[in-house]
Parts: sequence; structure tokens; C-alpha cells
Amino acid sequence: MGKKIAIIEGDGIGKEVMEAALLVLDSLNLNFEYIHAEAGNECYNKHGSTIPKKTIKIAKKVDSTLFGAVTTVEGQKSAIITLRKELDLYANVRPIKSLPGIKSLYEGLDFVIIRENSEGLYSGLEEYNSKGAVAIRLITKKASRRICEFAFDYALKNHRNKVTAVHKANVLKKTDGLFKDIFYQTAQINQDIESNDYYVDATAMFMITKPQIFDVIVTTNLFGDILSDEGAGLVGGLGMTPSANIGIDNGLFEPVHGSAPNIAGKGIANPAAMILSTVMMLENMGDLDNALKIEQALIKVLREGKFLTPDLGGKSKTMEMAKAICSKLKIN
Ligand code: ATP
Repeated sequence: MGKKIAIIEGDGIGKEVMEAALLVLDSLNLNFEYIHAEAGNECYNKHGSTIPKKTIKIAKKVDSTLFGAVTTVEGQKSAIITLRKELDLYANVRPIKSLPGIKSLYEGLDFVIIRENSEGLYSGLEEYNSKGAVAIRLITKKASRRICEFAFDYALKNHRNKVTAVHKANVLKKTDGLFKDIFYQTAQINQDIESNDYYVDATAMFMITKPQIFDVIVTTNLFGDILSDEGAGLVGGLGMTPSANIGIDNGLFEPVHGSAPNIAGKGIANPAAMILSTVMMLENMGDLDNALKIEQALIKVLREGKFLTPDLGGKSKTMEMAKAICSKLKIN
């Protein structure tokens, strides 16, 4: 029996890009067993919950989850944040890679941002007090060590040479001081990989002025959130950016974009970010061969420029672009 994959297509263009990504995956005969599960706003209207217990149970027992996109209505529980918590998906991985035919500030960019996903300023420890409100920025030794080890491990497995810690330890002396110390302790036991560190403000500038200096960045939750959107902007925006959320037992792979209600139902969503998310899933499973095959087929389609969706300047529909990628896979 093949690997079990949970498919959560969600709302809006989530459904459309998922259909495209599955068409591409299925053209490779990977022998996956798909288990479909519901989440999001449509699911809320049907079942009264954006993330039913059944969906969480399925995501916990499969090898990986593919997640399309959901519409999050104010006041409703966020499906994706719940899944990240329930599955303890502590590492958020965002490749920043310029691809041919896509407007990018620089050509040939290829680095990865690894963001601590479980604590920091997003720990959810917020309260009102007599002066206003306060949020706690929790940085634990355990989570810092876990994310730094993940970053060096990722560098080793993916043949990358350098890991850069990003922090603000000159101001946040205790919290980011601890993060930086643990980073260098981890670097000590990974001496084959180069290591250095920058302040987050300098990093924000260097990502625009000389992003070629980066290979793997590891950072805390809020900084990672902001820098990875800056990175997406560097290499062509939302339709092109995949992401992975990795835990000890599970991985969840999703495009960075949302459900885009303004174009949903028209069949014109760019499927690249979702397809590249499946590439990340295959890489995480150790199937580098098939991951590379899909990425190269997508690159061929981008380079040829004949079957591109409107956001990329083309006239094709989502499924036409997906079929073009499948036909490149068959040629190989
Ligand atoms: P949500 O409320 O689910 O977050 P949103 O529309 O506010 O959805 P996104 O979907 O993340 O936010 O994207 C913002 C805009 O970018 C969309 O309205 C759409 O025009 C464009 N966009 C995002 N993803 C894609 C895509 N895959 N293909 C084409 N355009 C996209």
C-alpha cells in the first residue's frame, strides 16, 4: 500500500488549484492513497465547524496533508492555525526561488526561510490590562533548539552551505539572546555548514539589496512571517509561492495564497504554488527524483509561456496549465 495523503481542498480557488495539483501528481503513478477531508468556510456552513474533529483525526494519521486554501471569516476558528497546533507543525519552510518567465527582482535567487511556527509573539498569550493590552513573546529553549536543529538538518539534506540566524538580540536581549545562543550551540555541532547571524532590520534591507548572500535563514515566528512575505514579493508574488509546515510525525503543504474569492469559480487561478507545494511534500518524503521532475516540467511550461494563467500574463485556464505540465512530464 502506498503513502496516505490527506487532501483538504478548502474554499474558493483552493479547490481549483488542488484539482490541478492532483492531476500532475497522478500522472506520475506514485501509488498514493488520498483521504479527502473538509475544512474552511463551506465546511462551517455545512457542519458548523471550520475544522471538524474528523479532519484533525485524518490529518494526524496520514503521512502528509495537502491543503488548498480556506476563506477565514472574522470570529471563526482558523482551520490552518488549529491544524498547525494540533499536529505540532513547528517548522514553516518557505523557499524563495526565482523561476524563468516570472517577474523577479533578481534572476537566479534561491534561498529558504525557516520560521519557528509554534511560539514567539504568536503564542496567543495576550491580555488587556489597566494601561492597554500586552502580548507575551514566549521563546523557549526547547522550541529554539528544535527549529535550529531543523534548519541545519534541512541544509544538510538539501545540499545547502550556510544557515543564517535572524534576530534582534541587541534589543530583545533575553528572548533573542537565548535564541542566538542556542543557534550557535547548534552550529557548533554542525561545523560542515557555515553559520552567521544578522539583525532582522538589516535582513529586511539585505533581502532587497543583496539577497544572494542568503542560503537558509532561521528565525522566530513574527520575523519569519514578515520576511517570508517580503521574499514572496522578491520572486513573483502569491501565485508562485509554496510552503511546508513540518512536525515530528507530520507535514502539511500549502500554497501561501488564500482562497481569492474575487477569481474563484472562473477556473483561472494559477496552480503553480499548489503544485510546488506537492514538490515540497515529495522532497520531505525523500522522493527527490519525482520532486525534481515536477519542478522541471513546471519550469518548461513557464519558459515556453504558451499555457500560462492570466496573473502570469497568459490566457490559459488553471487546468490547461496543469495539463501542459503533465504533457512535459510524459515527454521526460
Ligand atoms: P483569503 O480571504 O482567502 O485570504 P484573499 O483574496 O484575501 O483570500 P489571497 O487569495 O491570498 O487573499 O490573494 C490576494 C489576491 O491575489 C487575490 O484576490 C487574487 O487576485 C490574487 N491571487 C492569489 N492567489 C492567486 C492565484 N493562485 N492565482 C491567481 N491570482 C491569485
